[in-house]
Amino acid sequence: MKKILLVTGGGRGIGAATAVLAAEQGWAVAVGYSRDEASAQAVANRIVDHGGQAMAVQADVGQPEQVLRMFEHIDQHWGPVSGLVNNAGVVDVAARLDEMDWARWRRMFDINVLGSFLCAREAVRRMSTRHGGSGGSIVNLSSAAARLGSPGQYVDYAAAKAAIDALTVGLAKEVGAEGIRVNAVRPGLIETEIHASGGQPDRVRQLVHQVPMQRGGQAQEVAQAVVWLLSDAASYTTMALLDVTGGR
Ligand code: NAP
Repeated sequence: MKKILLVTGGGRGIGAATAVLAAEQGWAVAVGYSRDEASAQAVANRIVDHGGQAMAVQADVGQPEQVLRMFEHIDQHWGPVSGLVNNAGVVDVAARLDEMDWARWRRMFDINVLGSFLCAREAVRRMSTRHGGSGGSIVNLSSAAARLGSPGQYVDYAAAKAAIDALTVGLAKEVGAEGIRVNAVRPGLIETEIHASGGQPDRVRQLVHQVPMQRGGQAQEVAQAVVWLLSDAASYTTMALLDVTGGR
């Protein structure tokens, strides 16, 4: 049996690139999605067509009962996960903090922070030698925003990603002796649909002057870092916050 990996938000963008690359490296991949079933199913089909093992699994990570159901579904079909990529994430429209409202912050933190916390908890319960598991690897998608702060755009998103950095550091220390490595990748400006979802389809081009390498990144370039951190090739790497930003 292949090692089992869950990639939340695996149907599009960085998550899709990660799912495909991880499958090429031998993982059976559960491709998580919230609403876009067609994209997640297309990623799973692509993996299966290339001889890999994959299935699409639905859960809005901001809805705890859906997350628990997703993990149980994977348990029943394949068995316990030994890899988790906490990739599902959202931005919102550009705004100053004094223009934001409570509902926006709830969504931002429910999905980006609590969703990752809950998935991490469920993964640790399955992976940890303390719970009878045989170890595993967790990679969290943070963002360069965690250290840049995203003023005038989304300070709330930046703060949520800073929470992901702290989760990575704390959890890595907590479960380091239980066979689990926990790392984060902090992408910079990556060409995906996330910018359009925040009303700024042209965001990468507008900010590219801030990037020492003078270009946006591709989802595949982030996926390479994520899949390396997941793999045994990174066997002595835990608690890393790996910037994939072209130097930004
Ligand atoms: P994307 O293209 O917008 O894709 C987002 C993915 O997350 C989709 O598959 C979506 O599922 C899923 N998702 C959104 N809300 C969800 C929810 N409530 N529950 C479950 N899944 C949900 O985003 P991306 O650019 O690939 O970003 C992936 C991760 O990298 C995010 O955590 C993001 O914050 C981080 N990141 C991205 C950049 C960048 O420049 N692109 C930079 C730094 C960090 P559906 O397909 O079902 O909608």
